Amino acid sequence: MPRRLFSCTPSRLAAFEDCPRRYRMTYLDRPAPPKGPPWAHTSVGVSVHNALHRWWDVPLPARTPERAGGLLRMAWVTDGFRDREQSAAWRERAAAMVEGYTAGLDPAAEPRAVERQVATRTEQLAFHGRVDRLDQRAGELVVVDYKTGRRPLTEADARGSSALALYALAAGRMLRTPCRRVELHHLPSGTVAVAEHTDASLQRHVQRAESVASDITEATDRLRAGADADAVFAPSPGPLCSWCDFRRHCPQGRAVSPDREPWEGLAE
Ligand code: SF4
Repeated sequence: MPRRLFSCTPSRLAAFEDCPRRYRMTYLDRPAPPKGPPWAHTSVGVSVHNALHRWWDVPLPARTPERAGGLLRMAWVTDGFRDREQSAAWRERAAAMVEGYTAGLDPAAEPRAVERQVATRTEQLAFHGRVDRLDQRAGELVVVDYKTGRRPLTEADARGSSALALYALAAGRMLRTPCRRVELHHLPSGTVAVAEHTDASLQRHVQRAESVASDITEATDRLRAGADADAVFAPSPGPLCSWCDFRRHCPQGRAVSPDREPWEGLAE
């Protein structure tokens, strides 16, 4: 009997690649183990994404940088900050970020889609995900992904991102328009990292994703057949364990990384 396609998002594949134990706790353990408290840097990212999404819904004459800042303030997510003062300071910092970013956009250049759900199938995968923005330039689609982390992104980050490549593949097929260019827009630095894919590079990302999916399927089958959970979904401890939502359930992760306060991921 043919095997069912592996249904996945980019986060699901990345979780297994980063740490199989974290994957198991996120996607398999039921009830899922309780997560740690929310992170302030996640609140910044969510607020910025929401503001930029809504900005494109504003009628064109009012689609100004000031309006972007207003949208950010209106839907500010306050979770994870040390106190009200820190939250307010970051709200203004994030408002300045979206105002600066939208000041560099042409408000009349309507994207083909914003926050668009895309999906496609390969021989082994049923892939779906949400693209921050799909531009149409010179007859081709461009995948735009907003980033708000500390570190500016590079061309290698854009080229190496399986998520962006699979978005490009799915968007191109769904909208029947060529889609090869992917862009990481890093708002704190105002930089854009660009990669142009080819059929071959997209195919390499598909193969990589299928290989991860096949490892996940094998590990899941072994777990269900009674194998030891820590043997088939081994922890992958490292410095990033400080930011893992499940570190309280993971002695190996806690042993190699310090505890962090929920606001310590902010680029102060
Ligand atoms: S703390 Fe580290 S090793 Fe443990 S589950 Fe999280 S990412 Fe994996």
